[in-house]
Amino acid sequence: MTGALDEAAWAARRERMVREQLAARGVVDERVLGAMGRVLRHRFLPERVRDEAYGDHPVSIGDGQTISQPYIVAEMTALALTAAPPLRRALDVGTGSGYQAAVLAELGLEVVSLERLASLAKRARATLAELGYRVDVRVGDGSLGCPDAAPFCAIVVGAAAPEVPAALAEQLRPGGVLVVPVGSRGLQELTVVRRTPDGFVREGAGGCVFVPLVGEQGWPER
Ligand code: SAH
Repeated sequence: MTGALDEAAWAARRERMVREQLAARGVVDERVLGAMGRVLRHRFLPERVRDEAYGDHPVSIGDGQTISQPYIVAEMTALALTAAPPLRRALDVGTGSGYQAAVLAELGLEVVSLERLASLAKRARATLAELGYRVDVRVGDGSLGCPDAAPFCAIVVGAAAPEVPAALAEQLRPGGVLVVPVGSRGLQELTVVRRTPDGFVREGAGGCVFVPLVGEQGWPER
């Protein structure tokens, strides 16, 4: 029974994930490799799917939602860390399991995380607290960001939007970076928006597939 794996066995799987799925594929930022080597990813999954925690794919966490594939979390985190220093506060949109928020917190960022579904927010809050991460998890429409905690150095969106949500770009501080999948419901481009002294610079960082961002600056519910 893998449910009974001890922490050493999970650690071995985690080390292997970092080596084979991240480092071997070009993730070079030591801060990201270090943080993902430390965060106990398996604890963010419901027990019935825990065995898949370190697999090279997203995993369903219930309520029709998923925890992103390790590689995509690494990529988004590395892009977020290209924000101009000092890095202080980050916004995580789409808390889901809470894993991405934990990786940002493990990097020393002060994290606010927004989730639309109260059931997921509740579970993520519990997991994060159990593991000692101080993340401010709030229930709400993350496509509108979190004006009362803005501005942010980095904003990471774990769900796909039809366009770059303007409200999120507006909540970046100068030098700040927004990482968001933008495209159709079925296929998106990972998009990086950087706030400069004179406006915003946007670049693409490759194809990806995320669940939809459902909200005012995302997709309508259906
Ligand atoms: N970052 C997560 C995975 C995200 S899955 C993790 O590490 O596990 C996408 C999440 O975005 C889902 O939980 C979904 O409910 C949430 N979501 C979708 N639209 C949202 C919105 N407008 N505001 C906040 N959360 C939203």
